[in-house]
Amino acid sequence: MLIVMDHHCTQEQVREVVRRIEDKGLTANPIPGESRMAIGITGNQGPLDPNDFDQLPGVLEAIPVTRPYKLVSREVKAESTRVKVGKLAVGPPDFIVIAGPCAVENERQCLQAARQVAAAGAQMLRGGAFKPRTSPYSFQGLGRTGLEILRRAGDETGLPVVTEALDEESLGLVVELADVVQIGARNMQNFSLLKRAGRCGKPVFLKRGLSATLEELLMAAEYLAAEGNYDIMLCERGVRSFGQHARNTLDLTVVPAAQEQSHLPMFVDPSHGTGRRDKVAPLARAGLAVGADGLMVEVHPEPHTALSDGPQALFPQQFQELMGTLRLMAPLLGRTMSLPAELTP
Ligand code: PEP
Ligand code: MN
Repeated sequence: MLIVMDHHCTQEQVREVVRRIEDKGLTANPIPGESRMAIGITGNQGPLDPNDFDQLPGVLEAIPVTRPYKLVSREVKAESTRVKVGKLAVGPPDFIVIAGPCAVENERQCLQAARQVAAAGAQMLRGGAFKPRTSPYSFQGLGRTGLEILRRAGDETGLPVVTEALDEESLGLVVELADVVQIGARNMQNFSLLKRAGRCGKPVFLKRGLSATLEELLMAAEYLAAEGNYDIMLCERGVRSFGQHARNTLDLTVVPAAQEQSHLPMFVDPSHGTGRRDKVAPLARAGLAVGADGLMVEVHPEPHTALSDGPQALFPQQFQELMGTLRLMAPLLGRTMSLPAELTP
């Protein structure tokens, strides 16, 4: 159930509605909107009666929410969310590019990558310190040291940093040192991790599971929102399919579908989505064209030496060219992209 408050409602009227909800043993989730305040009700086992709420002073209407996900749905919040990350607002009309190496390997590599992606106009820096690897013998990431290196690289270039928390232990460290917590594809349905991330106080970048439906992705986001964290960015990163021509099948159809169902920003990751360097730029352009709110792209100063995901990492020069193309395309699609510092007039 969604309680929509009148434009002119008072704080006391909002408090009274919240009290009524809580008296029934339910949870009230205030959702401030551009034009009016709404309060989402969660925690009910069966349907609620709108008559219990729509006569209260200051209430405009009480609307039953038909989707299984509620707080992240457009039914509950019609306008697109802009997630604040430092000085950035992620969401339309801005188009945000997050770039950097798959993994933080050492100080030199990370700083070099950070400078290269910043110079090309990326707005956020990525780099894994806790890596979910298929083989236990593959490079697992530098852990805390990697986070500290990433933090320094972010501070030096002025880019907010995004990095993955693999479990509850690494979540604490990521929250301490990063600006955005990434929940990876393999953890999309790790519900205890999602609950903790929902209480962590930092924005979350949530990647779609390897074989998750859109509904499952939105339910995972709902776990975060139900704990009070609305600062969520979703990301399509390719799903398992039968094709042998790419690492995964990048499901671009999910982008407009997610944006229809949810107010949250939706990203595309053409790097994990294709697994092949030569396919990254075409699918990145397609991501912008299909209406994504941003991209996550892997870039490495020397891809041939990369300790993880080298075959899909762009050379810095390729990334720079891609950014130039995206900046040309963006205005045609009604999107805004900021210029790198040295091109800013
Ligand atoms: C990543 O972005 O570093 C990553 C491991 O991606 P995914 O969870 O999508 O596989
Ligand atoms: Mn990777």
